[in-house]
This record gives sequence, C-alpha cells and structure tokens, in this order.
Amino acid sequence: MNFIDVYFSPKQISNPESSSPSPRKPEWVLADWVEKNLPIRTVDPIPATREQIALAHNRGYVDGVLDCLLPNGFRGRQKDVADSLPWTTGSFLSAARGALDNGLVACSPTSGFHHAAYESGYGYCTFNGLMITAMAVKADGSIRRVGILDCDQHYGDGTDEIVKQFGIDWICHVSHEYGVSSNTNANRFIDGLPAVVRGFADCDLLLYQAGADQHINDPLGGFLTTAELAERDRIVFSVAKEIGIPVVWNLAGGYQQPVERVLEIHRNTMAACVAEYVVSEQ
Ligand SMILES: [Zn+2]
Repeated sequence: MNFIDVYFSPKQISNPESSSPSPRKPEWVLADWVEKNLPIRTVDPIPATREQIALAHNRGYVDGVLDCLLPNGFRGRQKDVADSLPWTTGSFLSAARGALDNGLVACSPTSGFHHAAYESGYGYCTFNGLMITAMAVKADGSIRRVGILDCDQHYGDGTDEIVKQFGIDWICHVSHEYGVSSNTNANRFIDGLPAVVRGFADCDLLLYQAGADQHINDPLGGFLTTAELAERDRIVFSVAKEIGIPVVWNLAGGYQQPVERVLEIHRNTMAACVAEYVVSEQ
C-alpha cells in the first residue's frame, strides 16, 4: 500500500471542560503527521447511527447522551461533545471496515472508548467505539471473531462489562493488565507481546488501542520509554501482518504536557505502521 488511510473528520473534535487533551487531539495528530511527511491519506468517516451505537449500549442511554439529557463521559452535557460522538465511533467503525477491505491496516485518530459501559460512561469515555465496531462488523455477517488489544495504560473495564452484558463469546479482549504486564516490567511486557498478538490468530480483525499513556513519564501512566513504546507498536504491526490479521488502530490516552510529548508517541506509532505496511512493500 502507498498510504495509510486515516479516517478523520473535523466533526470528531470537541471541547469539553476537561484536563484531557484527547477530544482535541485528532486535528493536532493529523497536522503533525502531515508536517512530518508521513504517507497518510485522509478518508471521510461515516458517522455512527443511534441504532449502531445502541448495538452495544442501552438505547435510553444513547438517546439521553446525544440529546444532552444525560451526562457524557466528561460528566457534562455539552452539545458539541454530544455532536462529536457519532463521528468518533464512526471514525473507528469506518476505519475497521477500511482495514477489512484492504486486508492490512487503517487508522482512526480517536480516544475515549474503553471505560464506557452498557449504560454509563466515565474517564473521558462515553460510548465504547471498540465494542460498537466489533458488534457492527459482526452484524455484517462477514467475520467470525474479533480481537481487542488494549494497550492504553488503564484497564478496559467498560469493554469487559459490555462483553459480559451480552454474553459474547466471539471477542478476544486483552487489556493492559494481562499476564505479561500485570506487573509493570517493561522487558517482560515487550518479550511477551509477540505471543499475545499471535493469540489473536483465530480472529478476523484486530482492534488495537496504541495508548500513549503507557509512557513512563505520563502523569496517569506508565512504564515504557519512548523507544519501548515504538517497539511495542512495531511488534503489534509486524506480528499481525505475519499472521494475516487486519488491524484498525487508534490513539487512546496520553496526558503528558506539553502535548507535543504525546504527539511524538503517536507519530512513532504511525511511523511503525508505515514501516510495516508501506515501506516494506516498496
Ligand atoms: Zn488510559
């Protein structure tokens, strides 16, 4: 492939009252990747419908949040946040379909998914775009199993809750606190990661959260250096490609200041993606 497709619309952006930069991060990340001449191509996402969001959530919760009657994952009811939510999940779902189409990889510059549970959200997460995407592509009928590799520093508790709510047995969810990294030993994490990715070999699609808050200097993280995070991403992409599973990946958390430190980590993820899927094919 000549470009990595990035499913981005300015409508994904919102400005909640929050210390998290994540709702504003997509446009900064895009601008950084363009400035650094990374071979990306921006693709318009299709916003998720209320029916699609309600595949993984209580319909009353979906309507309540989108109509600004219930609090979102930032504990507020701002309209611009509500209006952005179909676009963030839509970006991830569109990118997943893009990865399934090209058989390799696609990027969604999004965050704010994995703490969202069936009828509640917190921790900057309102709707669980990971679960909505898994359930929407499963409903298409073209895939059997979906893998979720959540390398945000924090546990994907909302993801787990929705899996249990629906009694789902076709999703393999591995969040940061899995065997090899439930401690915070960087060497054991890196050494164990290839086997973790190979564990998704029976899945038809891998959803990968490439969180920047695993960084050792992150105020809400973390235990990996910048170089170790880059190695994490290299392993995920190279093993996924080796075993033939398409990957859709996103940004997830990252809270260092200034935000340029977070952008550097996301830039390294895209560079690892480019190295695996663009450069090695030329
Ligand atoms: Zn996090």
